[in-house]
Amino acid sequence: MSGSESFDFVIVGGGSAGCVLANRLTLDPTVRVLLLEAGGSDDVPEVHIPALFPLLIASEKDWGYRTVEQTHTGTQISVPRGKMVGGSSSMNAMVYIRGNRADYDGWRDEFGAKGWGYEDVLPYFVRAEGNSRLAGPLHGTHGPLRVEDVTYLHELNQAWVDSAITWGLTRNDDFNGESQLGAGPFQVTCHDGRRWSVADAYLHPVTSRPNLTVRTHTQVSAVLIEGSRAVGVRYHDGNAEVTVHATAEVLLCGGSINSPQLLMLSGVGPADHLRAHGIDIVVDLPGVGQNLHDHPTVPIIWFTRDTTDIIDQAMEPWVMTEWQTTRTGPLASNLCGVGAFLSTTGDVTRPDIQLHTAPTAFADGLVRPDRPTFTGTVSLLDPRSRGTLRLHSADPEDRPELDLALYRDPADFDTIAAGVRAFIQMSSSGPLARFLDRPLLPDRNDLHDQAFAQFMRQRTQTMYHPAGTCAMGTGEQAVVDPSSLRVHGVDGLRVIDASVMPRLPRGNTNAPTVMTAEKAADLILGKHPGDA
Ligand SMILES: Cc1cc2nc3c(=O)[nH]c(=O)nc-3n(C[C@H](O)[C@H](O)[C@H](O)COP(=O)(O)OP(=O)(O)OC[C@H]3O[C@@H](n4cnc5c(N)ncnc54)[C@H](O)[C@@H]3O)c2cc1C
Repeated sequence: MSGSESFDFVIVGGGSAGCVLANRLTLDPTVRVLLLEAGGSDDVPEVHIPALFPLLIASEKDWGYRTVEQTHTGTQISVPRGKMVGGSSSMNAMVYIRGNRADYDGWRDEFGAKGWGYEDVLPYFVRAEGNSRLAGPLHGTHGPLRVEDVTYLHELNQAWVDSAITWGLTRNDDFNGESQLGAGPFQVTCHDGRRWSVADAYLHPVTSRPNLTVRTHTQVSAVLIEGSRAVGVRYHDGNAEVTVHATAEVLLCGGSINSPQLLMLSGVGPADHLRAHGIDIVVDLPGVGQNLHDHPTVPIIWFTRDTTDIIDQAMEPWVMTEWQTTRTGPLASNLCGVGAFLSTTGDVTRPDIQLHTAPTAFADGLVRPDRPTFTGTVSLLDPRSRGTLRLHSADPEDRPELDLALYRDPADFDTIAAGVRAFIQMSSSGPLARFLDRPLLPDRNDLHDQAFAQFMRQRTQTMYHPAGTCAMGTGEQAVVDPSSLRVHGVDGLRVIDASVMPRLPRGNTNAPTVMTAEKAADLILGKHPGDA
């Protein structure tokens, strides 16, 4: 690679994980880092104004993936992913959840991920967190990732929490505290009513460091591997093909869809599959692209009465002025500001269902009926079904083939169906009931079993949390080594993003991805969480 530009570390992808690494690695002024991001700037109002996040879905800031037709639903599922600085943290719904103690202990005990148990990862959640309300041993108050209470809650948000409590859930004001179960307000990754993406937290404050170079609109098409060592990457810059040399390491942070795709394009993956696409094999690693899973989600919507729809409110001309001057009002809402975690089996520590509720109609994006509406999304937290990600071709511009295999395991369907029934029951009684008019989705709440099952299959989407496609572990399907996140069989190459999670945590995935990257930074630098 003589003649090409050279850096110590090349980070591929400026999303949740990539931004953390760009910051932590360049703390040492002698370490030279290049961050390559396929998308463009995050400086558009839809990114900054919390209530506008749905407008980013299917926009040019979204990779806009879709699955193949799902065998058990008969539908294709949309898989939005941020394509801009900040990655998916610049388009997500901002809900701040870490998951359950059992999730990380499960990584350690069931997947051989030594060093990733709850007590091991807690210091990294705390180090990252800058919580404006909560403190104590489980919370950080000075970390870069700002976390706050939603500054605007609609009357339906409050009424729904009261209904859920009347139904039997306990009130919970800290889902990241001692107990995850119960109903209450979510905290959000916002700062004074404005989105606080991982780019806001970690990247923007350090772009002037002389040892950090950030290039946007640069889509990496291959990791260059000589012998068994990653030595750089190739990317496209307009029409030109550019190679850069990494003297220390290449860090793949492209997310759960693009990182496994890039590994396979670079000759690291299941040998038969790569051979079928004419790709030279560097390492036969059968687990690359396997274990794809997400949280299946079903939206339930009612028309409402004697109240407003938050999107109608948000479109009033004075509301934008209110947000611009005070950072409050409906535009400061992330729409789904309250929710719950519950167990359909009576487990007292591990929920299997997460609920988000919104005072508008949201079903895989905003729906705009002519009357006010209320939505609850019911998500399965511990899906057993596993799908695959495979190359469609050896062309880096070609989208990979995604199969989430939703409901392949019938237990997944049974659990989420129980969650949907519980959600309809709790919402139809108590203080929320007086606001609910007739059902919109499904159009009646007394569907018999067959019609209910059909509705569920037709309307299943996901919580937009794909994970697991470059899983850490020690078994045959493991892609990265838990002690370093290095790709098995390749020197100088790590994967650091949501794809390394061997199993999804019970909750939203941005905070767990940030934690993963914080820990990875220490693994790379040989540091410990308390080190300066
Ligand atoms: C609509 C939506 C709502 C969500 N809501 C929430 C929520 O409320 N709370 C929550 O915790 N989580 C939420 N999530 C999920 C969460 O944001 C993601 O799990 C997390 O951001 C994943 O981080 P990552 O680093 O793995 O990938 P990403 O953040 O997606 O980053 C990957 C980056 O790599 C870039 N890239 C990819 N390929 C290449 C390449 N070849 N060359 C150069 N660059 C490349 C991408 O453009 C992107 O910027 C949501 C996600 C979406 C899409």
